[in-house]
Amino acid sequence: MKLLEKYFLPSDYVKHFYSITPEYLKARGISAVITDLDNTLVGFDEAHANDVVINWFKTLNVHDIKVTIVSNGNRTRVSGFCDPHDIDYIFSAGKPLGKSFRKAVRMMDVEPSSTVMVGDQLMTDIFGANRAGLESILVLPVKKKDGWATLLNRRIERRIMKYFDRKGLINWGE
Ligand SMILES: [Mg+2]
Repeated sequence: MKLLEKYFLPSDYVKHFYSITPEYLKARGISAVITDLDNTLVGFDEAHANDVVINWFKTLNVHDIKVTIVSNGNRTRVSGFCDPHDIDYIFSAGKPLGKSFRKAVRMMDVEPSSTVMVGDQLMTDIFGANRAGLESILVLPVKKKDGWATLLNRRIERRIMKYFDRKGLINWGE
C-alpha cells in the first residue's frame, strides 16, 4: 500500500484554498502555486470568480508568489473565469498527465520542488502533482455536486480516502 501513499497522499490538506497564506507557503519554501478551478476555487457550475478568490490571488501576487490555474475544463469555461482578472491558466489540461504541470512550471519559471498544486481531487490534482514532483495540498470540494466526468474518479477516491482515514493519514475532523 506504500504506492497509494506515494501517488495519492497530498503533502498537506486544508479545508479551503484561502487558508493557504503567503506565510504558510514561504515557511515551506514554496514560491509558486498551481491551482485547480472547479470545486477548488468555486463550484464547478459557477462561472465567475468571487471576492474571496480575487483577494487570494491578489495576496499571493503582493507576496511575489506566482499562480497559474491548471484545469481540465474547456477553453470557454477557464478563460471566462480567468480573463476578467488577468489570471494565467492552462485549460483542457489532461490532469493527471504530467504535460500541463510541466508547462505551468515553465510558464512561471520556477522549480517543481518549490511549486505546490492545490486541488480537490486525489485522482487528478494530487496524483498528477505527486508524479510531477510538486508539493500538493488537498482541499475539500466547494460543493458536493460534481460534473459527470468526475463521478468515476470520486468513487475510486472514496476508497483511497477510507484507507488514508484508517491509517490516520488524513482526517478532516468532522
Ligand atoms: Mg476540481
